[in-house]
Amino acid sequence: MNKEQEEKKDETKVVETPQKETAKKPEGNKRRNQLPTREEIISAWSPKTKLGHDVKDGKIKNIDEILDNNKKILEYEIVDSLLNVKSDLLSIGQSKGKFGGGKRRAWRQTQRKTKEGNVPTFSTLAVIGDENGHVGVGSGKSNETLPARDKAVKKAKLNVIKIKRTCGGFDCACSELHSVPFKVIGKSGSVKVTLIPASQGTGLVVANELKKVLKLAGIKDVYSRTQGRKRTTFNLIKACMNALKKINIQKEITKNE
Ligand SMILES: [Zn+2]
Repeated sequence: MNKEQEEKKDETKVVETPQKETAKKPEGNKRRNQLPTREEIISAWSPKTKLGHDVKDGKIKNIDEILDNNKKILEYEIVDSLLNVKSDLLSIGQSKGKFGGGKRRAWRQTQRKTKEGNVPTFSTLAVIGDENGHVGVGSGKSNETLPARDKAVKKAKLNVIKIKRTCGGFDCACSELHSVPFKVIGKSGSVKVTLIPASQGTGLVVANELKKVLKLAGIKDVYSRTQGRKRTTFNLIKACMNALKKINIQKEITKNE
C-alpha cells in the first residue's frame, strides 16, 4: 500500500510541475518599457521589399553596399540585420510645473484642444548608431510616450548614414578613426554647427545633446562652434547631421579631382 501511495504521489508531482511552469508566465507582464532586442526584431521580420529579401537571404552582408549605392532603406529591420546599433533619446522638450519647470526632457509635450478636453501629444527625437561610422536621427509623435519613442527609433534607423572618419588632429599621427577629416559646417534654421578635427584625447568639445550623436557615430575627438539659437535642440541636431553628411560629399569631390 505504501509503495502504491508513493507511486501515486510521484505521478501527481509529475503532472503538477508543467502546470506550475506555465502559470509562472503571465503574458501581460512582458517588458513593456524596453525596446525589442535585435534578435527579436530579426526573427519576427518578414521582408516586403526586394532590398529586404536580399538582406534576409544573406546576399547583402554589409550596410555600406546599400548606403554607397544610395539605395533607400524602407524597412528598419535591414539596419538591425546588418548593424548592431544602440539608441538614445535626445532632450528636445522640457518639463512643466512649479519652480520654473523648464528642465530638459526627452519628450516634447504639446496639447490639442477638443470638445472632450485637452489631448496631449508627445514627440521625441531618437539617435541610433553603431559607434563605428554609422548614425541616424529620427523623430516620432504619439499620444503616449513609449509609442513615440518606438516610432522615433524606427525612423532613425531608416535615416542611417555613413560617416567618414580619420585621425584629424594636426599634432596627432595615429592610425585610428577618431575624428572628422576636416572642418565642416552644417546649418538648420538659425543654428550653425562647425565641427573641427581634434587630436586624440581631446574628447567631444560639443553641446551635450551633440555628444550623444557623435558618440554613437563613433567620433571620439572633435572641437565645435555653434552659432544661433542653439537651445532649439531640434535644429542643433539637424545642423550637426548636415555637417556630418557634408563630410561625405566634400570627400567625394576631392576624390574626383
Ligand atoms: Zn589621431
